[in-house]
Amino acid sequence: MPIEQTLILVKPDGAHRKLTGLVIDRLDAAGLEMVAAKMTCVTEKLAREHYAALSDKPFFEGLIKYIRGEFHGIKDHRILALVYRGENAIKAVRAVAGATNPEQAAPGTIRGSFGRITTAQQFENVLHASSDPADAAREVALWFRKDEIIP
Ligand code: UDP
Ligand code: MG
Repeated sequence: MPIEQTLILVKPDGAHRKLTGLVIDRLDAAGLEMVAAKMTCVTEKLAREHYAALSDKPFFEGLIKYIRGEFHGIKDHRILALVYRGENAIKAVRAVAGATNPEQAAPGTIRGSFGRITTAQQFENVLHASSDPADAAREVALWFRKDEIIP
């Protein structure tokens, strides 16, 4: 099985609801190795680049506000960004996370247990996890410099 790297963000609902430790515990339990971590500011530019593929979706502007912490009173738009590495890490993290829509996420997954859909139809689903190798490579490089990642 390939050794992969994948980007995880503890989204503002996760930080606000004190689920940061839970996310890290679940990733540890999946047998993956944390190789980078930082609290960083989600600038407007970074948010739009991160979600560029979704820019034509009706929920895009709400998504940018959400990831920048504007619905959860997050100071300085800060977020915890992580890189995990391991065999099949991308799929393994997606399995721990659960489906994008919290209503469809399996019970026991992070999103299934702790995600919600707001009355504005925003999916608040606790964490971001890269979805495939191309996305993972692009996202890790977008959020981290090479020298911030354990080689
Ligand atoms: N999202 C949403 N409504 C939708 C689809 C997506 O609010 O109908 C949000 C949700 O927070 C999701 C993010 O947009 O996590 C990115 O969407 P994507 O399809 O990439 O899902 P993910 O890769 O995060 O599972
Ligand atoms: Mg995605």
